[in-house]
Amino acid sequence: MHVLVTGAAGFLGSHLVDRLLADGHTVIGVDNLSTGTLENLAHLTGNSGFTFQERDICQPFDVGRVDYVFNMASPASPPEYLRLAIETLRVGSAGTENALQIAARYGAGLLHASTSECYGDPQVHPQTEDYWGNVNPVGPRSVYDEAKRYAEALVMAYHRSRGVNTHLVRIFNTYGPRLHPSDGRVISNLMMQALLGEPLTIYGDGKQTRSFCYVDDLIEGILRLSRSAEHMPVNLGNPDEYTILECAKAILEVTKSRSELRFEPLPQDDPTRRCPNIARAEKLLGWIPQVSLREGLTKSLDFFQSKVQAQLATRG
Ligand code: UDP
Repeated sequence: MHVLVTGAAGFLGSHLVDRLLADGHTVIGVDNLSTGTLENLAHLTGNSGFTFQERDICQPFDVGRVDYVFNMASPASPPEYLRLAIETLRVGSAGTENALQIAARYGAGLLHASTSECYGDPQVHPQTEDYWGNVNPVGPRSVYDEAKRYAEALVMAYHRSRGVNTHLVRIFNTYGPRLHPSDGRVISNLMMQALLGEPLTIYGDGKQTRSFCYVDDLIEGILRLSRSAEHMPVNLGNPDEYTILECAKAILEVTKSRSELRFEPLPQDDPTRRCPNIARAEKLLGWIPQVSLREGLTKSLDFFQSKVQAQLATRG
């Protein structure tokens, strides 16, 4: 297949490109590099199966005939989507519609990367796909949550009204190599802090929970969903739920760090609990995550260590 990946220079986009190429597809990646980085694609230089275009998908575009579109483009970490508030709303709306137009034009399938943030601060636990969510439409996180919710509506409209073969994945917290070391996420922040011997920043009391999925597990689920006949949203994530304090403890163990904890204020509308119910993915895709948090952190260690070395070198 000839495949378009938007957001190809991002954390998930670049891992998806790698896997598609390994499976024998040819890939065209696009990214405006607002949060992604060419470093994530540097190892593909000279790979004849891959081409890259730097472009903003919010402008209408055409890359020629493709068989499938993976729409992965969006700022995704809270500090980044707060910094890029309007851009985040635009990529969820105009950008996603441009990707859908390409799929409609060429009769291609399209998978849209949605998010557990569609559930907001959930009142149902664990979250099933038929839960409509508890989202503050005007809070700081709304730029991301509502963009992603609008994008889901848009994808379903192109499926229902234009017959596009669409897939919606609601991605829960995912981590691994290439998670940007300074994009403010809990795993990247704490791994970097632990390896630098700095205090680990815990927001609030650290008793809020998240469920962390290793990137290879997530990519496998995404590919299975893209080949399925399912058009309604499917949760993908690891249902092992950890408090942020437990996560910090695992990071201290894996990095063998003696860093202390430093408690900081909880950001507004920070969800208190988040855990996917993945029964649908299990049933429809035969998918279940294989990598535990400690295994995944260990697999990510080399990447964060290299980032720490680079940071120390620039600090002189
Ligand atoms: N968090 C933290 N310390 C950090 C970064 C994040 O305690 O240095 C907390 C954050 O408040 C949230 C959780 O960790 O409760 C996950 O945050 P992240 O930004 O990784 O993703 P989110 O699930 O909020 O989108």
